[in-house]
Amino acid sequence: MALVYPDMNCPFCGDRLGENESNIIGFTFLDIRDRDFEYLDDSACHRSCLSQWDKRDDFITFWNQQMRASLGPNAPELFVNDAGLVDYRDSKADSILASRKPPPGEPPELDW
Ligand SMILES: [Zn+2]
Repeated sequence: MALVYPDMNCPFCGDRLGENESNIIGFTFLDIRDRDFEYLDDSACHRSCLSQWDKRDDFITFWNQQMRASLGPNAPELFVNDAGLVDYRDSKADSILASRKPPPGEPPELDW
């Protein structure tokens, strides 16, 4: 994830990002060469600005492809949540379940 400072400017509206972290979304460095999206590489913006962007869906598709290419099939992916805001989620529910299994050597719980 990119380093994010309140005084950084949002590439969409030009205002500073501010202290409201719930309205800030950051992007890791993926060495993007696409002219439309490269300025979001290793950057951050307002979640509200990104969510209203007319290229939002194209960007999400593009970004998720780049993330998987760079970090593998378990890379977190962008999606639009129920509130219409862009957010991250785990691309595989399996990886969440796997992390809940007891560590090796411990007896399984009776509920399993
Ligand atoms: Zn903005």
